[in-house]
Amino acid sequence: MTQTPPVSGPDAPVRSGVRQAVRDIPAYPFTPIDVPYKLDQNENPYDFPPELKQKAAERLLAHPWNRYPDLHADTLRSAIARHEDWDAAGVVITPGSNVLIKILTELGGIGQTVLTTDPTFSVYTLEAQMLGAELVLTPLNPDFSLPVEATLQALAAHAPGVFYVTQPHAPTGHSDRPEDVRRVVEVADRLGWVTVIDEAYYQYAGTDHRDLVRAGKNVLSLRTFSKGWGLAGVRAGYLLAHPELAGQLQKLVSAFTINFLTQAVIETALEHPEYMRERVAEGIAERQRIFEAVKDHPTCTVFPSTTNFFLLKVPDADAAYRHLLDHGIVCRRQDKLRGLEGCLRIAVGAPHENDALIAAILALR
Ligand SMILES: *Cc1c(COP(=O)(O)O)cnc(C)c1O
Repeated sequence: MTQTPPVSGPDAPVRSGVRQAVRDIPAYPFTPIDVPYKLDQNENPYDFPPELKQKAAERLLAHPWNRYPDLHADTLRSAIARHEDWDAAGVVITPGSNVLIKILTELGGIGQTVLTTDPTFSVYTLEAQMLGAELVLTPLNPDFSLPVEATLQALAAHAPGVFYVTQPHAPTGHSDRPEDVRRVVEVADRLGWVTVIDEAYYQYAGTDHRDLVRAGKNVLSLRTFSKGWGLAGVRAGYLLAHPELAGQLQKLVSAFTINFLTQAVIETALEHPEYMRERVAEGIAERQRIFEAVKDHPTCTVFPSTTNFFLLKVPDADAAYRHLLDHGIVCRRQDKLRGLEGCLRIAVGAPHENDALIAAILALR
């Protein structure tokens, strides 16, 4: 007779339907803080214009809510394709680009490598760890530029998976030289990597890497409605890719994932891109105004930024964070990240918020 192991009791083997990789990840550590000036999530400081909200609401009211939306968001993919002057078959849209990052890890990362810089956008590493991909990080150069040689070495040394190039970079706000981006993207593509150029903040930088997407085989650009467009609450992100790659990715997107509410708002926004451009222009001007106002600070330094946020280096991050809170401002601490000792990440707000921010920074010792 064979011995059956006990299914319960102290000698039973520990079993769980929840994978170890998932249990190892701490719950997402974000606690909203209720203060007047919310500069901690890189959001656009302005709500969607009221007249456009009205238009979107009319669309919603005219549409039957008992019917399923498009299976693969075809109406919205066409609208984005027209806006971007791109083939609709090369557009994939999900509720926020964070969902695309999960899908990209499923596409090329599980059991393979996810390569990015250190520091980087936390969602890339989180999804890689959760889905059991091998994570390879190349340290950013001290001036926050892309470590080109180390990246080329890492691309060659590992089985191809997913490679993230964030342009402009988060959380540093730095934009790399186009020739450096081109070099790593071309090599990665030749070696078979799926190369993701995350352009969440490209409107603020005035950059656009679509030429590398067009020239490559497995290169794509990740874009979002959460930042320049100011629609973080609606949840919509998309990618531009070759139709062949987009087709593979689309298989991983659940059916009916874009609901009609999201579709109605984004269609309305795309009909009025001028509101977005005006806000981006104001954000850039306000960023310059803040930099100008604090540039002679005796103990704090701002790092150049090409986005709607920036890093402020302070002598004591904990004290400075609490000082800003006392002035009604919440920002994000980044001082535990590699190479970002003493750094706080602060979003550019509306002018009155930036006035408060400038006063608070100038009062900081
Ligand atoms: C904000 C941000 C995104 C966008 O995320 P959504 O899920 O679309 O809101 C993507 N990448 C980076 C680097 C970001 O900072």
